[in-house]
Amino acid sequence: MSVKISEIIKVIETIAPRALAEDWDNVGLQIGYHQQLIKRVLLTLDVTSEVVEEAVNQKVDLIIAHHPFIFKGLKTLSADHEKGRLITKLIKNDIALYVAHTNLDKAEFGLNDFLAHKLGLETVRSLDPSDPEKFYKLVVYVPSKATEKIVEVFGKNGAGAIGTYDYCTFRSSGVGTFRPLMGSNPFIGKVNTIENVNEDRVEAIVPEGLLRNTINQLKKTHPYEEMAYDVVPLENGRIINQNGFGKIGLLKEPMKGKDFTQYVKKVLNLSTLRGAGILPETVKRVALCSGAGADMIGIAKAKKADVLITGDLKHHDGQRAAENNFWVLDAGHFGTEKCVTECLEAMIIAGLGEKTPELITARGLKDYIFLY
Ligand SMILES: [Zn+2]
Repeated sequence: MSVKISEIIKVIETIAPRALAEDWDNVGLQIGYHQQLIKRVLLTLDVTSEVVEEAVNQKVDLIIAHHPFIFKGLKTLSADHEKGRLITKLIKNDIALYVAHTNLDKAEFGLNDFLAHKLGLETVRSLDPSDPEKFYKLVVYVPSKATEKIVEVFGKNGAGAIGTYDYCTFRSSGVGTFRPLMGSNPFIGKVNTIENVNEDRVEAIVPEGLLRNTINQLKKTHPYEEMAYDVVPLENGRIINQNGFGKIGLLKEPMKGKDFTQYVKKVLNLSTLRGAGILPETVKRVALCSGAGADMIGIAKAKKADVLITGDLKHHDGQRAAENNFWVLDAGHFGTEKCVTECLEAMIIAGLGEKTPELITARGLKDYIFLY
């Protein structure tokens, strides 16, 4: 089955909008074009020479990576340099490259949510909902006969999505008035005559990133020449929004601290695990942050987590954990993020269904940190 890159991107960015990415990050389509047809996709954490080699050998059309390949300003694409050589190779072989990084880390149902569920956590919430997307209440006035169509447009475009519900709208009925002026072409009524029409006021919550498109789509469907609508900023974005770095959730049953280390090793398929701080008697509330999340020690402790699982732990992070009587497990940057390929796979299959192109997980995935 072949599908356009734009359709794959839509699936990923509906869950992990590009606007969520950190300012320093570089995400999105890095090589290729949106209309390109894709039959085979290689999923990877990093783009390396081995991964590019594999992509060419496997004749894939697209690589989807977590870590940005083109990150800082490139001065040259000369194939005399490693990066230029790999980019040239990808372009020569018609292989596109797409990156979802901090937007995928921070998305409510992104990588950290995937990791949390892999570890069997329940009632999963954002550990640091520090980046709430702005939400608006969008109100549209519509003749009652066209209300259902308007509700459909709201839902189809992602307006009215709250937690695990979508199509959340509210309507109230009333009478609208208007007078078509000279030069108008009214759907209802006559020029220069004041009209009274039974209308519904339909409203739904819309995140900022979807607002403009939702209004445009509503205008296309709304029967009136001039659609009457209100856009009201909301203060409760933080409550609705579960985006942000890290997750916190509960284990189904409490575990002994020692048993928990074995459990994490087993679930994440690790031969070793580093730790710092004070090992608690039992573990029930678990905080996690994929990649490098030692900065979250403070917030994890404040939220009464029994442990923080992350990667890239440094000496002074361990010291901070010990001084705060808190327990941190370092499952490695690679250890906590290698499941990004499973996460992307599940996301694409759920979004594209039968249209899903062939998905391959890179064999060249590897940890750069060795344990002897
Ligand atoms: Zn990472």
